[in-house]
Amino acid sequence: MTGPGLTSHNAPRIECVLGDITHEVTDAIVNAANSTLLGGGGVDGAIHRAAGPALLAACREVRRLQYPDGLPVGQAVATTAGRLACRWVIHTVGPNWRWGQTDPALLASCFRRSLQVAQEVGAASVAFPAISAGVYGWSAAAVAKVAAEVALGERTGWAGIKSVRFVLFSQQVFEAFQRAFA
Ligand code: ADP
Repeated sequence: MTGPGLTSHNAPRIECVLGDITHEVTDAIVNAANSTLLGGGGVDGAIHRAAGPALLAACREVRRLQYPDGLPVGQAVATTAGRLACRWVIHTVGPNWRWGQTDPALLASCFRRSLQVAQEVGAASVAFPAISAGVYGWSAAAVAKVAAEVALGERTGWAGIKSVRFVLFSQQVFEAFQRAFA
């Protein structure tokens, strides 16, 4: 039994959905960026196209003020979101399997740091893509496993976050996430 003084917070609701993350109306969406933060292909390109030039301008400011050498792999940083429906874009740099970055701890750090940054800016709902499952070459199953370990395994640690959504762009990746979260 819990009383008012005993419950710290409720763990967030966690969902996996098939869809386009640029249409999410969560407080924050996570971008699978590259360390330059100056745009790329895949979900990064889609987010920048949907957000418009204000997002690129915000990223340039982050580079100038915080990360002149680029955002390191496994780190995350928030910016405003331009024309997107969400309030923040949280940029994180996934490990690139093709460059030998195969340590799951690096990918876990992307999910964990993004959730910490969401907490810092006060975002109560966060949407993630399948970080590193595209050009960066990780298998969907490996990404889904790491995402589930962080989201389910650490779900009591995210005070203030009410909803975490994994928004998967293809049926194959969606099914991998469904299996990992089942
Ligand atoms: P990375 O370089 O980290 O691998 P990619 O953007 O190449 O990033 O791919 C990551 C995942 O994002 C892939 O599963 C890809 O299909 C997916 N993706 C691409 N566009 C979108 C989108 N608009 N919404 C959600 N996911 C997307």
